[in-house]
Amino acid sequence: MSHRANEGVSHRVNGGVSDGCAAGRHVFTVDVEDWFQVENLKQRVSRADWESLPRRVVENTEAILRILREAGDTRATFFILGWVAEREPELVRRIAAAGHEVASHGYNHELVYEQSEAAFRADVRASRELLQRLSGQAVVGYRAPSFSITEAGLRILAEEGFVYDSSWFPAAAHDRYSRLDLSGAGVAAEGAGAVESAVAASGGGRETGGSVFRLANGLWELPLTTVDVAGSALAWSGGGYFRLIPYPLYRWGFARAARQRGAARQRETARQGGAALRDAGSCVFYLHPWEVDAGQPRVRGLRPGYRFRHYVGLARTAGRLERLVRDFAFCTARELLEAAGGVSGADEPAADAGASGDDVRGEDRG
Ligand SMILES: [Zn+2]
Repeated sequence: MSHRANEGVSHRVNGGVSDGCAAGRHVFTVDVEDWFQVENLKQRVSRADWESLPRRVVENTEAILRILREAGDTRATFFILGWVAEREPELVRRIAAAGHEVASHGYNHELVYEQSEAAFRADVRASRELLQRLSGQAVVGYRAPSFSITEAGLRILAEEGFVYDSSWFPAAAHDRYSRLDLSGAGVAAEGAGAVESAVAASGGGRETGGSVFRLANGLWELPLTTVDVAGSALAWSGGGYFRLIPYPLYRWGFARAARQRGAARQRETARQGGAALRDAGSCVFYLHPWEVDAGQPRVRGLRPGYRFRHYVGLARTAGRLERLVRDFAFCTARELLEAAGGVSGADEPAADAGASGDDVRGEDRG
């Protein structure tokens, strides 16, 4: 599988930077899970219900694949839930065959800070093994359910052979705290703070304006994008914000975030020379397949805030996505790290890594 830059789309505008993959691309990511596997719905949909609910993830992911294909074969990173991959293996194969990157969204969509270290390790290991077997790709990236990564989680990902994580949402503290009413406030706050201490210890995040940086344990972090407006970091990465904010305003913020990251990277390069990453401060966009599905079953009895969050703008998301992939140039997370000099062949596990399945099928997860 080729991981080189996709030259066919390099003419597109992308926040003022346009010379090739390394300098001009942003990272397009999809968290592949179904409409009922969402934190906001947890109060009404229990895990025991999952098996009996109608799955819509294949059709919805196909819709996103089609939009990407029609935009000059734009490539994206698909963080796929193991639970989905196990039931829809053909979808994983199709994503890989279309040239996209297959990465892990864990197995059972349990929040990282609600799992023991052993359970988290088993969860990510099982998902990685399954996705590698189905896709034929080395799976090197991870995104935590609801951005619930912890410092211990970052350590375990590196130990398990992951090359990068994309779960840190610098502006999500706000969002996460507002969600704490739902699920165990104290634990969440501790988890969020611990990640921030790992990030601070790496010395990377602030220097590069929230773009890609390396943690002390060698793991790369691709934070979800925020934009600085009047001194505040606002979440500007995708998801509900993408559905809610009028598209011209979203596009303005995305381009602004790209400029801010590019400027921060230039300052870093001036200081560090060749030691700095050779990217231009790419942004990370994310979406879920259910966010393009206006016809999904409505869950009754949600609190108004969660109902709004889940259902706002579903009908307009696909059209906006078509505009976004025309207005900006995207690549996969892995392509970005390779082009920016963050990942070399030496960092890359063999394509069959984990496929031997020695102790992977312990199934003591969740
Ligand atoms: Zn998720």
